[in-house]
Amino acid sequence: MHFPMNNEKILNDLEEIVGKDFASNREEELFIYSLDPGASLPRVVDFVVMPKSVEEVQKIVKLANKEGIPIVPMGGGLTLSGLVLPVHGGIVLDMKRMDNIIEINEMSKYALIEAGVTTGHLLSYLNENYPNLQPPVPDAPSAATVAGNVLIHGSGYLSQKYGDHGSMINGLEVVLPNGDICKVGSCALSDYWFTRGPIPDLIGLFTSSFGTLGIVTKLSVKLFHKPKFRDVVFGLATDFEDIPNILSKVTESGLAEDVLLGMQDKPDWMKGYIFVIVYVTGESEDEIDTNAKVLKKIYRKTNARYMKTPPRIREIYMEKPIFAATAADFRKGGGFEYVGAFLPIENLPKAFKGGAEISKRHGIIPTIGSRLIGQSHSAMAFFSYSFNRADPDDMKNAREALHETNLLALELGGIPWKAELAGQKLILDKMDPNYKKLFKTIRDTLDPNHIMNPGNWEVE
Ligand SMILES: Cc1cc2nc3c(=O)[nH]c(=O)nc-3n(C[C@H](O)[C@H](O)[C@H](O)COP(=O)(O)OP(=O)(O)OC[C@H]3O[C@@H](n4cnc5c(N)ncnc54)[C@H](O)[C@@H]3O)c2cc1C
Repeated sequence: MHFPMNNEKILNDLEEIVGKDFASNREEELFIYSLDPGASLPRVVDFVVMPKSVEEVQKIVKLANKEGIPIVPMGGGLTLSGLVLPVHGGIVLDMKRMDNIIEINEMSKYALIEAGVTTGHLLSYLNENYPNLQPPVPDAPSAATVAGNVLIHGSGYLSQKYGDHGSMINGLEVVLPNGDICKVGSCALSDYWFTRGPIPDLIGLFTSSFGTLGIVTKLSVKLFHKPKFRDVVFGLATDFEDIPNILSKVTESGLAEDVLLGMQDKPDWMKGYIFVIVYVTGESEDEIDTNAKVLKKIYRKTNARYMKTPPRIREIYMEKPIFAATAADFRKGGGFEYVGAFLPIENLPKAFKGGAEISKRHGIIPTIGSRLIGQSHSAMAFFSYSFNRADPDDMKNAREALHETNLLALELGGIPWKAELAGQKLILDKMDPNYKKLFKTIRDTLDPNHIMNPGNWEVE
């Protein structure tokens, strides 16, 4: 379905709202918005608009309602799974011009920012001005927005200690689908954007709903004390079945800031090992050494081995964000996408084994990883599939592998993360009907004209 529209009139209206330089329907400018870096096929975009203020967002939403045009909010557009590619055409609302860091509250430890602030911007701003504070940062390219990341339950180096990034939201300013500006969290009644409770917690409506319930224009995210020292301690496991126990013991020690697992069959020296990558922090080098010793003991007791880190590997892993693609199986054409899935820790062995089988079946070198979330309450597992972007059959092969991985994640009691359209459908098929009914009721009430990212999370 594509919405009928009077292109030139709508462009004029959009230009009136944001200025001539920031609205376009020109093919050459829409091209980049019609694709994303993952394995999705390109989709039609009718307009791109770059608002500068919440009032402009509000006017665009009102116009879209009047004209019945879909709106897709976009941050960095880096989720890989086609989430900012319009399913039914319409407006891509590129938020990058709303890039003010409004306030850093050092005492209550939060950053109040506009929705277009990138993770790289916030990180470097804090490094320069507040060196004792650190923000949640994913290992995504630094052009990813903080909003885009926290709104999809992203995760990063602080997630093992403090939870996924969705749980680090204190408050939101949202333009609802009818154009109302609504504040949720403590900011609904206080000047301090410091907590999401103790009032009915509606922030969850806007997380992982992929822009279907509103457009976030401001947000407050938690910041954390930055310890003076940080180091990485590698362990090596050879049996998938040992993983849950290793992870439990590592997290029970209370020493780990971030815990990653990695497995890949290339280069040859990596084959057959599961790398356990644990970050320790401290206020002195002695503290780091002591913590590293405790970890080495844990590795010994859990069937794993300590691995002395080669300097080049250490350098890569100490970077923030880690350049995640360093380890990827690069193919001609450079395409790569991964299924991320939230999984119960006990099912990681089956996930790693199953993921490796799927990769091999599709002729792709197994590249599987995982990051612990919230003191091992769950793990985000990632199964990467590379493809040649210039070869449609190879892209189709990757999409099939992604689909099988979504099925595997669901079979293991997990939930595919930032799922593409086909993955969303699998999730909805398995979901409690009353959960779906509740979501549909909320969506129909908030967005009766169904203009917000239609096609995503469609309950039939
Ligand atoms: C190499 C690589 C490594 C990665 N590693 C990680 C990682 O370690 N951890 C991790 O969490 N992710 C990772 N990612 C995935 C992804 O890039 C990030 O999660 C990223 O932060 C998404 O942010 P974005 O600004 O690109 O969001 P977008 O793709 O622009 O948007 C994501 C979703 O949020 C919606 N949205 C965006 N802005 C708004 C808004 N203002 N209001 C309402 N809805 C909005 C969009 O409609 C879309 O549904 C990685 C990606 C790549 C390519």
